[in-house]
Amino acid sequence: MKIKKAKSLIFKLTIWYVVFLAIIIVIIGGFIFRSYRSGLINEIDHTLAEIADELDDTYWNHRKVSLEEAVEMVEKEFLHYHPYILIAKISYKKDDFLEKVIHTGDSYDENLVLSRKLYCKADKSALNPLYVTLEKREIPASPLRFILFPIRDNHILQIGLSLQAVYSKMGRVLIIIAFSGILLLVLASAGGNFVIRKALQPVVNVAQTANQITTDDLSHRIKAKKRQDEIGVLVDTFNDMISRLDTSVKKIKQFSGDVSHELRTPLTNIRGEVEVIMRKNRDRNEYKKTLKSVLEETYHMEKIIDDLLLLSRTEALTKENLNENVQLDEVLLNVYERYERNAHKKNISINMKKILPLVIKGQKALLGRMFSNLIDNAVRYTKSGGNIEITLDKEGDSAVLIISDTGIGIPGEAIPFIFDRFYVVDKSRSKDSGGIGLGLSIIKRVADIHGADINVHSKVDEGTEFEIKFPLS
Ligand code: ADP
Repeated sequence: MKIKKAKSLIFKLTIWYVVFLAIIIVIIGGFIFRSYRSGLINEIDHTLAEIADELDDTYWNHRKVSLEEAVEMVEKEFLHYHPYILIAKISYKKDDFLEKVIHTGDSYDENLVLSRKLYCKADKSALNPLYVTLEKREIPASPLRFILFPIRDNHILQIGLSLQAVYSKMGRVLIIIAFSGILLLVLASAGGNFVIRKALQPVVNVAQTANQITTDDLSHRIKAKKRQDEIGVLVDTFNDMISRLDTSVKKIKQFSGDVSHELRTPLTNIRGEVEVIMRKNRDRNEYKKTLKSVLEETYHMEKIIDDLLLLSRTEALTKENLNENVQLDEVLLNVYERYERNAHKKNISINMKKILPLVIKGQKALLGRMFSNLIDNAVRYTKSGGNIEITLDKEGDSAVLIISDTGIGIPGEAIPFIFDRFYVVDKSRSKDSGGIGLGLSIIKRVADIHGADINVHSKVDEGTEFEIKFPLS
């Protein structure tokens, strides 16, 4: 499946990254710009303070110099700064607050006169000069930075310097910061996109491999370098999952092949026998013999289908679904009574040894089927003169059922497979005894849904013991 660009994780992560980065760049750029700006303004303030000091000195040290003359002298001294110097004489008594303005003729502009509020404020802060910025279109040198402080009773010294040069420097710096920020953003975004792409490449590989997988071909695995990170875990998990699927699908295929084979054999037998008998007229006994054989084959098929249906019915069952209280000893006795005669017919002694009355949570019918299969196997695989023993005992929190026989036994190498569907140790011995290889699969399934464990001990020509431990309710 193709992912739309706008929906792709790479795209979304890159966008998030760019937005985050842009915010950081704006914050840092703003901080740099503000620091630079206050540095420049501080420089101007410093110069203003220097001019003000000079004027103060000139006026106080030369007693004969008038304020106007002092202003003129200082203006000349600092000519290259083009300072605007004026002295506002204020009055708190008269209506006209600004009594007069002392200045030199050259640089005076009445727009330079500030508000009453500012002069009052400056008058009251004799120790700390007041700095203000004035922006007025009418003044050609605007914006201007002023220092204000009282120089003599009711005389406020006001010196101004143009900020135009400072502002144009700040403009240039702003352009450089903005340009660098954009360049950084573009480069970092490209780099970020590259890194994100690279980091997500294994995920893309996972998706591609997943696309190639069909139930017909589960041989693909994700090829990725061994890594310890989240991607490594994802790749391993995915590969494990494919392996498990592979095993399950193989089992299913094997199973359906086995089912077809097991059903096909009796059908072929039936067809063969019917074809032979129909070639010519036969006597009554021959027809009877063939019909008997056909009937046997249909019994065999019926048993296979019954067992398969039982297995598939139990597929959906779990321990939680089973809530009957089952009296194990009663179920066992019932089954025993059914097989007792069979065993005696085969000259096999079958004994119930120690049988305790024990109750477990489960399903009576399924447990009955499990016990029948176990005892049936013991009778079928034990020769004449043999012996079968059954015990039901309590061990801790478990009910333990043991069915042992002195039969033909199971070879050690076959034991791991005996619970597989349609597995028979030896075709000839199973066929002779009417076995189809589903009895132990049913036993295992019933044990699983009852939360029981099965142990098998067997020796060829000595006998077999099945031990099943059920958790007691
Ligand atoms: P079957 O219907 O062929 O008996 P099962 O699933 O019941 O199939 O058993 C699987 C195989 O395990 C059988 O082919 C048989 O050889 C072996 N087996 C099971 N129970 C016993 C036993 N009590 N003694 C010897 N062999 C056994």
